[in-house]
Amino acid sequence: MDAGRDEPPRRAVDRDRALYAEVGEFLFAQDLDVTPLNFSLALEYVSRSDLAIEKAVDAALVEYGCLTNGIVEEIVAERDADKMTPETLETMLEKVEAHLAQVIGVTEGSRVSAQDYGTELKKQVDDLDRGQGVGAPAVDKLILLTRTMVETMRKAEAQMRASQKDTRALQRNLEAARRAAEQDYLTGLPNRRAFEAVLKTREKVAREQGTPLAIVFCDLDHFKAINDTYGHDTGDRVLQFVANLFAQISRNACHVARHGGEEFAMLLDASADEAAQIIDDARDDLANRKLVNRDDGERLAPVSFSAGIAEVLAYADGRAALKAADEALYRAKQDGRNRVYIAAAARQEAA
Ligand code: GH3
Ligand code: MG
Ligand code: MG
Repeated sequence: MDAGRDEPPRRAVDRDRALYAEVGEFLFAQDLDVTPLNFSLALEYVSRSDLAIEKAVDAALVEYGCLTNGIVEEIVAERDADKMTPETLETMLEKVEAHLAQVIGVTEGSRVSAQDYGTELKKQVDDLDRGQGVGAPAVDKLILLTRTMVETMRKAEAQMRASQKDTRALQRNLEAARRAAEQDYLTGLPNRRAFEAVLKTREKVAREQGTPLAIVFCDLDHFKAINDTYGHDTGDRVLQFVANLFAQISRNACHVARHGGEEFAMLLDASADEAAQIIDDARDDLANRKLVNRDDGERLAPVSFSAGIAEVLAYADGRAALKAADEALYRAKQDGRNRVYIAAAARQEAA
């Protein structure tokens, strides 16, 4: 029956229309920018197609009252953490880049040969022109034909140059995408993915050369209370402030990353004791700062962090060292926070 055949598509269209409206309303209500990421999250949420997303969004709404671009990024990153490892990202980008390099090589090569050929032909035409003079019909025709060919070549050359330019732009975009994938949106610091990749390379070098490498795991103390007391935006600014403080240390040959919400990870080319000194200075510096809330000029309660430190070479791999640093951090928290502890294995080694 015709009516029966027509109906499902129309119903599907209506359903889609309702879904798009719902997605739009959701984005509008949450005051989220219309970005592909926000859109896909909104779609997954309102269509209830992903339980993990649904739960995470509901939890964020309960906790913060609304979503922000940053919270969406966190939710999606958390959900995709298993799928997109630094290795898969790296492999994917390398493949695309290798392909692009190949395309550029090919266009570059054919551009050069077309140019050579064009130049050679032009030279011959000019010679012919000079030698024979005007008037010999066959030669005139030949000259005309060849000139057309030279012109065609020049056009082809221009097209190739343009496509090469497009390809280069694509390559630059790809590099920007790679940087964005490795950067934390809020603080501008490298993110956890980037940190894990750097940890791998730095660990390899340290093992090969026998140079010390310390891993530091920091977590802000009672950060939830900062959000609860002053609001999430102030919490964000505190995170930016602390990130900046750590970034200043990092100029001294150290790598700092925002590892998670209010957690920072660092790598220092130093022993655990030396690293502990540097980090403890930063801890002391922060704990004694008098931070002021930009919104109302109100003085904030002191902000502090706790840290755990491990010597990477004392462990089987970087991951194990990070775990040890995390355990030391946990002890620092248990013992009252605002302190820096060194993991036990490194201590035994140093003793
Ligand atoms: P502890 O001293 O034991 O670490 O206490 P805490 O309150 O810092 O620890 P907890 O892990 O319970 O809370 C961390 C909080 O950090 C939870 C979350 O609300 C907040 N947070 C995580 N990411 C962000 C962010 O990007 N911005 C803001 N403002 N808060 C964040
Ligand atoms: Mg934490
Ligand atoms: Mg904390």
